[in-house]
Amino acid sequence: MRCKFSSRVSFRERHFPDVGDDEWNDWRWQRKNSLKNLEDFRRLIHLSEGERSALSSVIEGLPTLVTPYYAGLLDPHDPEHPLRRTVVPTVAERVHSPGERNDPLSEEDYSPAPHIVHRYADRVLFLVSDHCAVYCRYCTRSRRVGRGQTGEPAIEDRPASGIEYIRANHEIREVLLSGGDPLILDDGVLDKLLTDLREIEHVEIIRIGTKAPVVLPQRVTPSLVRVLKKHQPLWMSLHCTHPAELTGEVRRAFEMLADAGIPLQSQTVLLRGINDEVSTLKELFHGLLRLRVRPYYLFQCDPVEGSGHFRVPVKRGLEIMANLRRSTSGMAVPVYAIDPPGDGGKIPIMGGCLTARGESLVLVNERGEESGPYHDDATLSFSLKRRKT
Ligand SMILES: *Cc1c(COP(=O)(O)O)cnc(C)c1O
Repeated sequence: MRCKFSSRVSFRERHFPDVGDDEWNDWRWQRKNSLKNLEDFRRLIHLSEGERSALSSVIEGLPTLVTPYYAGLLDPHDPEHPLRRTVVPTVAERVHSPGERNDPLSEEDYSPAPHIVHRYADRVLFLVSDHCAVYCRYCTRSRRVGRGQTGEPAIEDRPASGIEYIRANHEIREVLLSGGDPLILDDGVLDKLLTDLREIEHVEIIRIGTKAPVVLPQRVTPSLVRVLKKHQPLWMSLHCTHPAELTGEVRRAFEMLADAGIPLQSQTVLLRGINDEVSTLKELFHGLLRLRVRPYYLFQCDPVEGSGHFRVPVKRGLEIMANLRRSTSGMAVPVYAIDPPGDGGKIPIMGGCLTARGESLVLVNERGEESGPYHDDATLSFSLKRRKT
């Protein structure tokens, strides 16, 4: 797709001239040579004042890490470049805006066992790794990921307690592996984890939430695919942000997963100045559908501390959704959702679409036009339930 191939080739020739294809295409080489500090970035990118300042002061918090592969997609001259803004820190992260928290989803309150978040009865979030290939600057779990970077994750003791919890709770029919990024784990560790989960009779579905195939497509190897394929039904949620991420390498990685029979869906965070245009999102969602990925969620950016510069007003989000809904295939339209603080969980939001009038419902389409009265036997109770103002 729109990968500026020539500039990417020259990026590699210029900055990694002695690195052969074998190394470049090896995910471990990509991990080992990831950019993590001022020196690394300064060599490849003309840093802005705000970026340099953020990279030069050592503060507690979310580390910085970018694979050489993904660094090749960043515009070295433009600090406002969408992908660059998502992974290179700036001083804006130090600004704390009203309503922000370090645990915006109150996940710690819903953690009955280490590394388990159990908020919905029939499914559970299992945080199997604290590490990612790249740290998104708007990360909801910035309070906990990336610590002890950048050695290999020590996770061998982790699954046991989580597996015990899942085994003991029979209402859990779906396990979502997240983190961190589960695909940062070795094939052998993943295989063991998936085997243990599959041995639990009430676990019907396993879902892996990951950005690795997007920022480290080299991770999707025939060996990984063989492991995943053994443990069907296994679904994958891919964190995708912008159409510029859909390169030839990513296409190859998604194709390998889809060809293995792994249903793919995407989750996207709505980000100011990055993907908050209808044309950008449409290009992303259409591109994903062509790669057999179904757009699943578009999330309002969680109010994690220091993320105010990324947040889009909900009104704008609703406008974008309305525009998408009326101008393209329903398959290309994800669910727009907010995960508000407190215990509500994810709440899908849509522009006003339903009101009660007399004994009928009135539906409102995406253009704001009201339908004729729609008779519904329960309309009376519907209108009684509405909050009195
Ligand atoms: C998002 C989330 C899920 C999955 O929700 P779906 O709507 O099924 O995608 C499960 N558990 C927790 C704690 C979550 O935050």
